[in-house]
Amino acid sequence: MAKRPVVSAAVAEIIRETPRVSTFVLEFPKGTDFDFRSGQFAMLSLPDFLNDKGRPVRRAYSIASSPPELRDRRIAFTITRKGEGGYFSNRIHESRVGDSALVEGPYGTSFVLDPLDPRPHLFLAAGSGIAPLRSMIRTLLSGETPPPIELLYGFRDREDFIYAEEMKEYEKAVPGFTLRVAHSRPSPGWTGHSGRVPEILPRLYPSYQGQVVYICGHPEMVISTVSWLKSAGFPEESIRKEQW
Ligand SMILES: Cc1cc2nc3c(=O)[nH]c(=O)nc-3n(C[C@H](O)[C@H](O)[C@H](O)COP(=O)(O)OP(=O)(O)OC[C@H]3O[C@@H](n4cnc5c(N)ncnc54)[C@H](O)[C@@H]3O)c2cc1C
Repeated sequence: MAKRPVVSAAVAEIIRETPRVSTFVLEFPKGTDFDFRSGQFAMLSLPDFLNDKGRPVRRAYSIASSPPELRDRRIAFTITRKGEGGYFSNRIHESRVGDSALVEGPYGTSFVLDPLDPRPHLFLAAGSGIAPLRSMIRTLLSGETPPPIELLYGFRDREDFIYAEEMKEYEKAVPGFTLRVAHSRPSPGWTGHSGRVPEILPRLYPSYQGQVVYICGHPEMVISTVSWLKSAGFPEESIRKEQW
């Protein structure tokens, strides 16, 4: 991939989404020329965090905010702290408001939203895979006539629901927005969908109904999900996917 410019940004806000996940809202300096499409990612690095060859440690992160938010020079990344072994993710979770982060991008050409596509949009996410889908949802909702949007989001248990308030608010306030969540390790008392996204798809989406589908999650989730959708008659052209 052709190298993009590196822009130094300041950590403007850190939002704790779940015990292991935070959203880092970065602010670009005035006059920064940076643009992207929902679904793209950037390479992040931190000043002074270098590998043993003296080069910056870089990792890919999906952009979780939408392009219109660049008006305020803001861009957001939602990052899971990997815990043991998570070299970069642990380090960025030590950042504080006012610290610097380096943003290189945008990258990615295949997993991008077409904001003018009028078809119903089905978003399927697992864990932090919701990050680029949130960017897409925000972009669609900032348009004049958003298409019907359905989000099926799988995570372990109640406390792992990233963007919980935002998505519940859309469900309440936005006509045509449907939210379904599935807990893969539900606590006692949970009465909603239980299981992983690919396990509950067949009941919810038994056949193709003209949607365009955006999928993001870990490789196993994406492979199983695509496999089901194809067997249910979803054309290849209607399926867009990203995995990490
Ligand atoms: C296009 C793209 C978009 C992405 N978007 C996001 C996003 O929005 N949010 C997000 O959280 N992540 C995202 N990722 C993943 C991200 O790039 C990193 O891979 C992730 O944060 C882990 O990096 P790390 O440096 O913390 O972990 P690393 O140090 O790279 O380790 C990765 C994993 O390997 C394990 N590991 C490390 N060393 C060893 C070892 N010696 N032996 C055994 N296991 C080991 C770690 O425990 C960890 O689970 C994205 C990836 C891609 C490719």
